[in-house]
Amino acid sequence: MANILIIGAGGVGSVVVHKCAQVAREGGTFDKITLASRTVARCDAIAKSVKARYGIDIATAQVDADNVPELCALIRSIKPDLVCNVALPYQDLHIMDACLECGVHYVDTANYEPLDTAKFEYSWQWAYADRFREAGLTALLGSGFDPGVTNVFAAWVMKHELDEVHVLDIIDCNAGDHGQPFATNFNPEINIREVTAPGRYWERGEWVETDPLSWSMNFDFPQGIGGKKCFLMYHEELESLVKNLKGIRRARFWMTFSDNYLNHLKVLGNVGMTRIDPVNFQGQDIVPIQFLAKLLPDPASLGPLTKGKTCIGDLMRGVSGGKEKTVYIYNICDHEECYAEVGSQAISYTTGVPAMIGSKMVAEGTWRKPGVWNMEQFDPDPFLKDLGKYGLPWQCVDVTGKV
Ligand code: NDP
Repeated sequence: MANILIIGAGGVGSVVVHKCAQVAREGGTFDKITLASRTVARCDAIAKSVKARYGIDIATAQVDADNVPELCALIRSIKPDLVCNVALPYQDLHIMDACLECGVHYVDTANYEPLDTAKFEYSWQWAYADRFREAGLTALLGSGFDPGVTNVFAAWVMKHELDEVHVLDIIDCNAGDHGQPFATNFNPEINIREVTAPGRYWERGEWVETDPLSWSMNFDFPQGIGGKKCFLMYHEELESLVKNLKGIRRARFWMTFSDNYLNHLKVLGNVGMTRIDPVNFQGQDIVPIQFLAKLLPDPASLGPLTKGKTCIGDLMRGVSGGKEKTVYIYNICDHEECYAEVGSQAISYTTGVPAMIGSKMVAEGTWRKPGVWNMEQFDPDPFLKDLGKYGLPWQCVDVTGKV
């Protein structure tokens, strides 16, 4: 049985806690669950919801996850087996430092980012590999949906469907509608930093850069979602996948956006509101994107408003038994069903469920190996078995010659 400390009481954190409580209610893996965050009132509200739904007690605590001594004091008082970090990417290294100092395993859902540059790269966290290895601790990076499940999908296809992969397209569609003029479905600052960055894809051994959202394609999504325009973006899982998928020749990431979202983003960008560098305003430095994030709806508040589905998956073309083969592996998730189950919309749900499962894999020892790892470096089978069981059923179809 495992004692888990979850850090970050936002949209994703709420789902992780509800899902850990579901496991605890079955008598599985987690026998002690603590949720800590900057604002303890948010932890308490989540604990109340979990108690009402599942009858499970969640401990709560206040912590500034940028303060390593404070984190260590909390970890030493709770004595968790692992920390699941679902705060913001800025906290990753501080939480990893605290895990090393206190001897606990580490799981997160997004690569470390410094506040003042948007790099979307694993270099800082991969640099911790020797220290985690020497300490006999596991750090599992990117255990959300994308990154996360998309990496595990790729590993599963390489294990069961293809002998070689040549082309990978990860395609993320949110066909949901929250009815708000402009809102992001996860943390606004992180979302806008990601979407406004230059696009980048991998081809023939090198990265090719494109202007932000300047390339698009149409893709016909299954189960009634239908055709949508998808835009090429850089996404962090490409960095580890092009290293770990041997023989890959091209890897790209695509995301759908509504015209309304793109129009708002364009105007906000044009007037400087998406800048991540400080601007002096009336004698005080403010970062425009942080000010904008403060004004936008809290993603957690979109739960009761959002209708429709998400569809995220990997389209992989390669060779099996000497013949060309293309497969599409994906999950479809319904915003309203997520809300009915745990009180969150599907973006938080599709991130929180894999964060719980990655934590469960590490806690059980199924995915435990000293060092710092990306998701595709472990056996995909036990993870994907749990993915269906805990609310994200998936399927893989042969689409050779059809796309
Ligand atoms: P939210 O903004 O809703 O929640 C973040 C939480 O972290 C808030 O509760 C916030 O506290 C807390 N927090 C921020 N700074 C600190 C700090 N210094 N110390 C302690 N707590 C802190 O974000 P989301 O839930 O939408 O996203 C959480 C993470 O999930 C992000 O890293 C995001 O990038 C990642 N993500 C990953 C995805 C994937 O598929 N891999 C998809 C979507 C998100 P407070 O309440 O006080 O503001």
